[in-house]
Amino acid sequence: MIFKIDTPDLTQERAGNTGTPGVWHFDSGKPGPSVLISALIHGNELCGAWALKDLLASGLKPENGKLTLAFCNLAAFDRFDPLAHDTSRFADEDLNRVWTEQKLAEPSTLERQRAAELLPWVKQADRLLDLHSMHEPSPPLLVTGILQRNIDVGLRLGVPRHLVVDAGHKDGTRMRDYAQFGDPEGQALALLVECGFHGDPSSVRIAKQTTARFLLESGVVSAGQLPAEWQERDGQDIAQQVLQVTEPVVAKSKNLTFSSPWQGMECIEHAGTTIGHDDGVPIVTPYDNCVLVMPSLRQLVPGVTVVRFARQVH
Ligand SMILES: [Zn+2]
Repeated sequence: MIFKIDTPDLTQERAGNTGTPGVWHFDSGKPGPSVLISALIHGNELCGAWALKDLLASGLKPENGKLTLAFCNLAAFDRFDPLAHDTSRFADEDLNRVWTEQKLAEPSTLERQRAAELLPWVKQADRLLDLHSMHEPSPPLLVTGILQRNIDVGLRLGVPRHLVVDAGHKDGTRMRDYAQFGDPEGQALALLVECGFHGDPSSVRIAKQTTARFLLESGVVSAGQLPAEWQERDGQDIAQQVLQVTEPVVAKSKNLTFSSPWQGMECIEHAGTTIGHDDGVPIVTPYDNCVLVMPSLRQLVPGVTVVRFARQVH
């Protein structure tokens, strides 16, 4: 896949205005939610960096509540090479798998050190939108986690079409599931949006549109404050689908192959259909009308999720 997005110059943005590199915080001084929009949790996912860079350039400030913009894994981003974009997902370990008290207490990697810097900004937020992109060309999707309040806010946004309800990964906890965001009794809202392939210019548009909807839904800004093109509705307003992930397929070996070049969101009609092999063992769909969510072998090592099985529930 050809990378068609320019690498943003973040020389100014990485200074931040908080003392934490890459973190910008604006307080309206009025009541309202504290919204955190995060980008570059993965260093090669540029759509969010462009969205936040352009948002800062627009001079946007909250009318109510607080707004924090965070460029997260700058160390990985600094290694970004469009010709080898997979290699700058992280420096030492995946920054979206370190969000447990135990891992945060052991600052043994660049990512855990960075998570410790970001932690006060994550903790003070009660609404999070985490901007990501994908290894493969695939329709954009919202990753809501399993809490109903997050599914509900995803449906209130109205975009993108696919909402994926999943419990996360076996190899670590995501920022969007950390502390208040994963508390079943709490009220904090968290969404992660996968905006399409890392190098596809449409991912930047999706990141901006989702950010605009999230900010408007939260009430920290009003429509007149946001660039008009961020509020365009380019055919995405078709009925949303809620897909419940029932199980991840976790690689047991490095010898894992797919039987077709799955792109994601394929619906496999019959239970028992072989979609690939792991060290010779067939990987089969567990039920009829099984949807394949984010299939990818690009980060293949034992223990990594290579695809998730989901069924449509809404
Ligand atoms: Zn990502």
